[in-house]
Amino acid sequence: MKGTGRASLEHHNVNETASPSGLRASPRRRGRDHRGVLTHGLAPLAPVAPPVARAIGVPRRLPAAAGVAITFDDGPHPEGTPAVLEVLAGAGARATFFLVGEQVERRPQLASRIAAAGHAIALHGHRHRLQLRMSAAEVAADLARGAAAIAEATGRRPRLHRPPYGIYSGAGLRAAREAGFEPLLWSRWGKDWRRFTTPRRIAARATRDVTAGDVILLHDADFYSSRHSHRRTVAALPTILSLLRSAGLDTVLPA
Ligand SMILES: [Zn+2]
Repeated sequence: MKGTGRASLEHHNVNETASPSGLRASPRRRGRDHRGVLTHGLAPLAPVAPPVARAIGVPRRLPAAAGVAITFDDGPHPEGTPAVLEVLAGAGARATFFLVGEQVERRPQLASRIAAAGHAIALHGHRHRLQLRMSAAEVAADLARGAAAIAEATGRRPRLHRPPYGIYSGAGLRAAREAGFEPLLWSRWGKDWRRFTTPRRIAARATRDVTAGDVILLHDADFYSSRHSHRRTVAALPTILSLLRSAGLDTVLPA
């Protein structure tokens, strides 16, 4: 995708052509929040280019992991998150939830339920904003507020961070590291934020050539993507888990 692909780390790394949720969201939402990203220059803060990302060590995989880490961004969501939790529980699977602080503040009990179920809690941001449009101070304040919301709801301070759209600005990455967060992107995705996709396609894409150490990106919420996208994700999840199982791969949490 022109414009956003240029700014996106994962675009190059996984050889795909789109950015994660939101940048290809419905015109309604994109028009409201992301149009500027697509059409305006990103001059003040250059994105971290893939070679730079590698050099400065923004991981997309967990090389030492014995299995695969499934990750869910954008929640907690009143419908998507409980549905995902139910599927995971039924399969005895573990996942990592990159929560959005503003959503945690709206439903802290749901965030707490994720943690109580034994899943990992991580930080996506307080608001779902593209770092390239934020100053270093704004990123730092957003991270602090999001982490505080999560800590208050779950009793845990998140250690891992993944920015909205998987895009770090140079200043944003520094702010995250200075605040003690470890970045983690992903190596596989289902493109489940898309409006015109199916559970079958999501499952196939998310597990294509998957091996131990891979990190799979999914979304348990449709706040920043196409309407009801989490329903397709939930429908795809049993297939994803069963494909992993037949490949002899357990779900793991980041160490
Ligand atoms: Zn997101």
